[in-house]
Amino acid sequence: MKEHHIVLQRVCSCAKKYNLERVITCNDAFAAEEEAEEIAQKCNELFCGKHGFDVQMVDNNFIIIVEDAGFVESCEI
Ligand SMILES: [Zn+2]
Repeated sequence: MKEHHIVLQRVCSCAKKYNLERVITCNDAFAAEEEAEEIAQKCNELFCGKHGFDVQMVDNNFIIIVEDAGFVESCEI
């Protein structure tokens, strides 16, 4: 069975604060996509709002990307 990974591309202090896992492995592509979408949405809702998150499929993996303009390493309020 093929493995799919959900990968958090960049970790800002919000991700650290919420203890988000950097890599999640999933055996099912559909489930992985669902999960990735859910995480991206959660990030957009819970995080500081200074960066937008989106999901991008690369090969068999789902990368949770941060919009380029929006990334800040330290985003404590
Ligand atoms: Zn943040």
